[in-house]
Amino acid sequence: MSRVIVIGAGAAGLMAAVAASDMGHKVTVIEKNEKAGKKIFITGKGRCNLTNDCDTNDFFDHVARNPKFLYSSIYSFDHDMVKAFFGENGCPVKTERGERVFPVSDHAYDVTGALTSHLRKAHVGIQFNTKVQAILFDKPKQVRGVRLDDGRELPSDAVIVCTGGLSYKSTGSTGDGFVLPKLQDWMSPLHHRHLFLLK
Ligand SMILES: Cc1cc2nc3c(=O)[nH]c(=O)nc-3n(C[C@H](O)[C@H](O)[C@H](O)COP(=O)(O)OP(=O)(O)OC[C@H]3O[C@@H](n4cnc5c(N)ncnc54)[C@H](O)[C@@H]3O)c2cc1C
Repeated sequence: MSRVIVIGAGAAGLMAAVAASDMGHKVTVIEKNEKAGKKIFITGKGRCNLTNDCDTNDFFDHVARNPKFLYSSIYSFDHDMVKAFFGENGCPVKTERGERVFPVSDHAYDVTGALTSHLRKAHVGIQFNTKVQAILFDKPKQVRGVRLDDGRELPSDAVIVCTGGLSYKSTGSTGDGFVLPKLQDWMSPLHHRHLFLLK
């Protein structure tokens, strides 16, 4: 069993924590907001269109660029598994026009509720109002934990960065993930240049 820290309690971080804890790891989620899934609350006009019921091959036909990138994730957790997961965790879903899937309740917060409820059952803690300032490395490519903005260091064997992008900043997506890793420790000058371009 490894100690895993997930940075960010958005859709990606909550799901990553579910997957890691289901694999038997000891998981802690660190979230700078006061609650989980702030962006999920505004998705689908407050209803969260959480997947699409179309055939998986049709789905790939609609991916504009590089659908192969998605093969492993979509084939290992397809739309039927998404629907089953949320149903089992207290958020039954329905399919509407265009095969769009929503919670039966029409409330996006039930999607967040299903994810946090699963984590609670798995004894995964979420530390709210806690911001990660840096990822710590022992040596290149060997992570040893994270440093919080109050100076505390939390040890871990793995860190999953799920800090979102750079849109709707009030939800917490302030682009921290682009600058979090201690780049000079493990990135080549080429990587540096790419990161600079991303910023
Ligand atoms: C208006 C709108 C409607 C949308 N509708 C849909 C829809 O219906 N269906 C759909 O599938 N997608 C929809 N999307 C897209 C979807 O919301 C995003 O793809 C998804 O929420 C991204 O999740 P995430 O976990 O990657 O990032 P975020 O949701 O941005 O989560 C990142 C989390 O990391 C935290 N964080 C960041 N930095 C730190 C740090 N240094 N320390 C600790 N925590 C940190 C943030 O506070 C945040 O909670 C919509 C997006 C918008 C803006």
